[in-house]
Amino acid sequence: MTVLPTEYAAFLASLGNPEHHVMVGTDWWACLCGAANGPLNPGAEAGYHAWQVGADVVQVPWQWSHVEADGQTAAELHFSLWECEDIDPRKG
Ligand SMILES: [Zn+2]
Repeated sequence: MTVLPTEYAAFLASLGNPEHHVMVGTDWWACLCGAANGPLNPGAEAGYHAWQVGADVVQVPWQWSHVEADGQTAAELHFSLWECEDIDPRKG
């Protein structure tokens, strides 16, 4: 079991729904829960999932080719983007 940094755990807890956080890139979207993870139409699908589960949405300024990594789950991607401050906890 991975132990998450306290700051990241606090960030997750601050989300509207800590089980879900919808990341919307330029040509992809992914949710913390793994609902999607890959190059898909980011517009309506992401918004619909966020609405369904009461999740927050964050814009990520990267194309899928930039964030793709072998075997990386949506949760791992979320964490790495947070580490890089591409998901900024200070943004509303
Ligand atoms: Zn989700």
